[in-house]
Amino acid sequence: MQHFPIFLNLAGRRVVLSGGGETAVAKLRLLLKTEARLTVFATEPCDQVRAWADAGRITLVGRAFGPGDALCAALAYAANDDAGQDARVARLARADGALVNIVDNLGDSQFITPAIVDRDPVTVAIGTEGAAPVLARAIKRDLEERLPATLGPLARIGKAFRGAVEALPFGKPRRDFWQEYYFATGPRTIEAGEDAVPPALGALLARHLDTPEARGVVDFVGAGPGDPDLLTLKARKALDKADVVIHDRLVTPEILELARREAVLVDAGKEGFGRAMAQDEINRLIVAHAREGAHVVRLKSGDPTVFGRLDEEIEAVEAAGLDWAIVPGITAASAAVAGIGQSLTKRARNSSVRVMTGHDMKGFADHDWRALARAGEVAAIYMGKRSARFVQGRLLMHGADPLTPVSVVENASRPEQRVLATTLAQLEPTLTQAGLDGPAIILFGLAPRRAAALARSLDTPDVTSEEIAL
Ligand code: SAH
Repeated sequence: MQHFPIFLNLAGRRVVLSGGGETAVAKLRLLLKTEARLTVFATEPCDQVRAWADAGRITLVGRAFGPGDALCAALAYAANDDAGQDARVARLARADGALVNIVDNLGDSQFITPAIVDRDPVTVAIGTEGAAPVLARAIKRDLEERLPATLGPLARIGKAFRGAVEALPFGKPRRDFWQEYYFATGPRTIEAGEDAVPPALGALLARHLDTPEARGVVDFVGAGPGDPDLLTLKARKALDKADVVIHDRLVTPEILELARREAVLVDAGKEGFGRAMAQDEINRLIVAHAREGAHVVRLKSGDPTVFGRLDEEIEAVEAAGLDWAIVPGITAASAAVAGIGQSLTKRARNSSVRVMTGHDMKGFADHDWRALARAGEVAAIYMGKRSARFVQGRLLMHGADPLTPVSVVENASRPEQRVLATTLAQLEPTLTQAGLDGPAIILFGLAPRRAAALARSLDTPDVTSEEIAL
């Protein structure tokens, strides 16, 4: 940012401008919105400039700008439509100690005048450092349309009412009150004239003082494996109502797009200084927002109850005496088996399925390994990429068939989904070769349906594994 935006109080300050043509008129029109004392230097002023002088709105000096003319001036504008003249004026004004703007000459100006949306006392200034005036104009047009013309008077009336509104508790209750005033009650009542607004404000305040303070709630919502179409309707509704969405790193941008436009998005999986936000910090954030009365959606990838550290968060929310609910989601294992066209359970093959994480398996007891090593067993191993070698070693050691099919599904349900069909014996080299960088789940005991035959033949020396597009 080369230009720092500030709002300069020009009430009673001297502002000088050199020029009397169209360019000067355009700048003066803006400056006349302020309470500055305007002095214009022009040898041949146009009718509009003369008219403003006659009406006493500016002081017109009928000669060229000279040394000392910008003394005590806060700002000086060179608007002569003549580069030579402008450069001379700029030099003189700078010597007098004024900040100088040469109209349409960014490089030689000390300050620039932004595009302005005027809803006095609400003023929006838009600057692009001269990079894209077209963009600035487009933004201005957009804001002009979006901000009702009555915003100015509403803000003025509202300002006079601020003291009374302090009767409401600080934070969300007050924000809710002003929200309703500016976007509902205010615009509606001002149609009947400005005088109708103060009584309506009084009635609105009385109503807000009467309503008991809104209590925050926390929804622990499953975002599914990534495809927005795999969100539940309940998850969508929660996102629609959320004031704050605290989400994991694995939640895809397409899903975050669906959150209410005004919702505050907090990335709890963001890696600052090399590590994700600590669990305590996440708990604290959830509670802090909910205590303010916000509807908090704690958005977790897949299903929140599967490897989501959900219980720690629920305990924190309970301890704070807040209400909460769980909205289930489609877990990665479900998306992954769908991706390979298989069932998680199957009659006469496996009547149970293990949902496990690679991390926890270091402490797996011997009998667990033996049970899992039996023919037909199926396990969905989350976060398993790094522990693949360990899992493979233990299973083989406990007698598992090296040809047991294993599928690895990366980015299940997303456009970038990849399926690796391999065997227990080849699991580790397959993973290393594939160099996966997205979330991946290992489906032990399952081969992609369409490639089942292939997976059976994988352990031949010249075929190690196959990446399958399904
Ligand atoms: N609660 C989540 C799991 C969170 S643990 C759920 O129910 O799915 C994070 C692990 O989930 C990842 O390491 C990966 O093993 C798995 N995972 C999440 N999304 C995935 C996806 N789209 N494809 C494959 N695995 C995924």
